[in-house]
Amino acid sequence: MTTSSPVPRSDDAAVDRLKALLERAATGQDSQAWSDLWTELYHNGTLDAAHPLVLPTLADMAESGKAEVAASALHLAGALLVQADQRYETRNLRHQYAPEVRRLLGAANQWRQVTAHHRDYCYLVEAILNLEGDIHWAEDLIFGVVSEEYELECPDPDGCTSLWVILGERGFFSTAEDYALSEDDVETFPLHPADPGDLQGLGRRLYDLALTDGHEEVAHALTHAFGEATCPECGRRLSVVEQIVARSS
Ligand SMILES: [Zn+2]
Repeated sequence: MTTSSPVPRSDDAAVDRLKALLERAATGQDSQAWSDLWTELYHNGTLDAAHPLVLPTLADMAESGKAEVAASALHLAGALLVQADQRYETRNLRHQYAPEVRRLLGAANQWRQVTAHHRDYCYLVEAILNLEGDIHWAEDLIFGVVSEEYELECPDPDGCTSLWVILGERGFFSTAEDYALSEDDVETFPLHPADPGDLQGLGRRLYDLALTDGHEEVAHALTHAFGEATCPECGRRLSVVEQIVARSS
């Protein structure tokens, strides 16, 4: 995780730029504006996520009634908050904009219940976890559910190997090689999903949420994300979610 703090521009030109991008993004017709917001607010930090236009405007968009605009606003807002938590090791941005964070979270929970598309649903769940701010690895957890694979490290203290955990249309298994790119037959090891009845904590909550919202395939993927995989090198069983956390810390 990066510890260098970029210096956002706060001159008039930067504020004009921010205002214009947010206005274009709010139309729902301008994907380039969203891409630029991600670049300038999140990836290179040249625009200031703490500027009073950012989270209040994203909260307005989340409540706007336009599903795509709301989803984009929620995704970005959640990511900005988690990034600020980690970059500054404080929760100042959350505290400064507590009413907006509450509005964003309320909107995310409403959209979650009416979003049928698999990937959109997953990103809403990611946004909810990021807005709640209890974990910093929601992006990594959800990325694997969406992309149907995790690349993890074996937890062997001597450093064993990296492994791929595949969960989705290609099957449910671990392998030492990038299965998607491999043309040869590679050795695979079946995953050991958690018994839904045994799930606890976050796994329990997300599994129940996905079922309640009618996303059985997400719930099924989560039993594997909160289950175990076999290291293809040393054969040990490892917790998938523990290695997701280890990789993202
Ligand atoms: Zn191993």
